[in-house]
Amino acid sequence: MNMHDISEATEITPSGRIDRADHGWRAKCLQRLVRMQLPVPRSFAISADTVRMIAQGRRVHPDALRDVFAGSGLVSVRPSAVMPDWGGPGTILNVGINDSLHERLVGLIGQDNADAIYLAFVQSYATHIARLDPDMFTQDGPNALAEALRCYRDEMDAPFPQDPAEQLAEVLRSMARAWDGPTARLLRQAKGAPPDAPLGLVVQEMALALGPGLCGSGTIQFIDPVTGAPRVTGRFRGQHHGATVGSGAETLFLTSDERGPSLQDTAPEIFADLVRFGIAARERLREEMQIEFVVTEGRISVIDATRVTRSSRASVRIAVSLARDGVIPHDEALMRVEPRALADLLHHQVDPRVPRKLIARGIDASPGAATGRIVFSAAAAQSAHARGEACVLVRRETVPEDIRGMHASVAVLTERGGTTSHAAVIARGLGLPCIVGATGLAIDARARTLRAGDQLLHEGDEITIDGSSGEVLAGAATLLPPALDDAFTQLLDWAAEAGGLDVRANADTPEDAITARRFHAKGIGLCRTEHMFFDAERLPAMREMIFADSPEDRRLSLERILPMQRKDFTRLFEIMAGLPVTIRLFDPPLHEFLPHDRDGLRELAESLDLPLSHVTRRVEALTEFNPMLGMRGVRLGITVPEIYDMQARAIFEATVEASRKGDPVVPEIMIPLVSAMREVELVKTRIDAVAAAVRNEMRADFTFRLGVMVETPRAALRAGDIAAHSAFLSFGTNDLTQMTYGLSRDDAGRFMGTYVGQGVYAEDPFHVLDQDGVGELLLTGVRRARQQKPSITLSVCGEHGGNPESIAFCHAADIDYVSCSPFRVPVARLAAAQSAI
Ligand code: PEP
Ligand code: MG
Repeated sequence: MNMHDISEATEITPSGRIDRADHGWRAKCLQRLVRMQLPVPRSFAISADTVRMIAQGRRVHPDALRDVFAGSGLVSVRPSAVMPDWGGPGTILNVGINDSLHERLVGLIGQDNADAIYLAFVQSYATHIARLDPDMFTQDGPNALAEALRCYRDEMDAPFPQDPAEQLAEVLRSMARAWDGPTARLLRQAKGAPPDAPLGLVVQEMALALGPGLCGSGTIQFIDPVTGAPRVTGRFRGQHHGATVGSGAETLFLTSDERGPSLQDTAPEIFADLVRFGIAARERLREEMQIEFVVTEGRISVIDATRVTRSSRASVRIAVSLARDGVIPHDEALMRVEPRALADLLHHQVDPRVPRKLIARGIDASPGAATGRIVFSAAAAQSAHARGEACVLVRRETVPEDIRGMHASVAVLTERGGTTSHAAVIARGLGLPCIVGATGLAIDARARTLRAGDQLLHEGDEITIDGSSGEVLAGAATLLPPALDDAFTQLLDWAAEAGGLDVRANADTPEDAITARRFHAKGIGLCRTEHMFFDAERLPAMREMIFADSPEDRRLSLERILPMQRKDFTRLFEIMAGLPVTIRLFDPPLHEFLPHDRDGLRELAESLDLPLSHVTRRVEALTEFNPMLGMRGVRLGITVPEIYDMQARAIFEATVEASRKGDPVVPEIMIPLVSAMREVELVKTRIDAVAAAVRNEMRADFTFRLGVMVETPRAALRAGDIAAHSAFLSFGTNDLTQMTYGLSRDDAGRFMGTYVGQGVYAEDPFHVLDQDGVGELLLTGVRRARQQKPSITLSVCGEHGGNPESIAFCHAADIDYVSCSPFRVPVARLAAAQSAI
């Protein structure tokens, strides 16, 4: 066998060459601690190249390893990958113990403690390095050590290795090999590591944590990992040597409070040193660190330091406080917070410290968490609401009639649907936690039961919806309140200074608009006017208009709708106070407004005062095989032009009214689902005529901007022609994705999990913009539109407008702004700032 000298085992000294890429993050971090003159035991870094050679079978020369045993005679070996997240084989402690060291330790720290160390190592070596059956090495009691050594000898036909250098060589070989195992590789790849990610190792002299005087090991950190508030947490375990428990073991809390004895009381000078080390580590490592330490007869050794794992809310607070203290610049604080973390702060969250009782999983369609009693219909939700009871609306999928039930619920759960389905879009707008596409559920609305695996839940049973993770939990989980605190506001102020593309909100109601303002949206990028008719009072008016089959009936129904719309727009203009408001003309997939069952038909017949047979016939006549590709958007506008005329009039009258009272308004009118330039010309001509009429009637002047939604592949390809007639183009990437893939927005949830699981799609394309396909159409549209009209405003208003990766793409594509649900505005603002830094 080839001998390989591990001259690459570099001692970690203040000036030695330790490189993160070669030796890993742990080695680099230890060097920083050494440079800070913290009491770090002698440590050696083994480079990734050497580890790779060891994995390939090169033997480590024992002589090269003897030096590391010069201190206590015991060493630990820890993994040191390039990123802490990438994991690595478990740490092996107490390497170097043998019969003679054991004997020496008996004299120093007592028989029981010495036995405990030797036993722990034999057990760990036998199972992890010699790969013997762990069940044979679970010894306990006074003869445990002798028994374990005997067991080892019997199984291996050789005594337990006594040469510390040989033990170490075997440990290194085993850890190097473990890194190459398929499970380890898959785990780290899931964390973003490349397939050939390197592994360094750190060999460190062990400070004894067993023996006379104050001995033990512990961890300390200086912030609360859930809230990010300053607080000393951790624990100190007396007579604990790693996982090895010695005689007289005792756990102490770190700080003094009513819970019992603490290190602060027992050894105030040690506690004070640890706090001092913590402050220094925060400043020098520019991060909140957890310090791992050992106390040997009252002396501290700092053996390791890791970045404190933290919740979303803590990540914001920590980044802001580091920047406020001048430890990191503002831009770095912005880069350190995952934009999605901000969405968690806006809502209640399931407390991560408490175990979860998972009953089902679905698509995390709208973040936040809420607990309520199960209801299976909008009517039941309203009754629960009236009784003051929190309820969760559980439906196979939602339809417009459910909106009032959604308003009355604290969360929504559907068996079907994807990220852009009705339930998902509405819930995000309302800021309600929502899970869709929970395909493992079986809802029986008649029996009022919900089956999840082998559990049967009834109406009235309590569940918790975690819309941030897509998990349905049994019972009432412990929730943390939203954290729209000072740190959150500060971070977004810094985001505004960093620049980047603008963020507007998709807002249909005054509440949405108020939320948009609260989060400093730069305007409304999409007001879906048909959504203004989803509520119980308005729905009949919309249905009446759809059902009108003579010009006279239609005129009457439009006359009824006009004042409603005028009021809606006036209110939005007032709230937005001069900021741009983009109003999209009706784009009602008609089926969303039609009843789906007999009861609904009967109810509709009653409200329209028409015979049931007539209503049924009319619904049948309007029913389309493929409503998403049917009489939608501009197609309705061209077939029944009076509808868009009415909306244009309402917009212009509201413009005059709002401008008279407050800031001047320049409304933006947007035409949906365009696929041909002629559609734009036809609509434009009529809208211009309505504008002229209103100017005349109201004796007022105003301007407006007319734009087009690019939602069909053809519109993207013909963006040049279309731009000629448009002041702005807004890419509706929901429909553009649906049509580019030929993938139904409402049905894709059924197989999306399988598709993503099998790697057909890297991500759900309704969630993260598909840069290769849909992105290419978008880039083509941008290029052709700008060639035709350099001054044109370009935006993205599909759900992707709130997705950080998609925002980075939009930034690179030179898009002027993105528009997303109001509650995603903070996420989008941070992502936009990060793209610009
Ligand atoms: C879109 O298609 O991306 C869009 C914003 O419109 P909607 O979601 O209303 O179809
Ligand atoms: Mg659309």
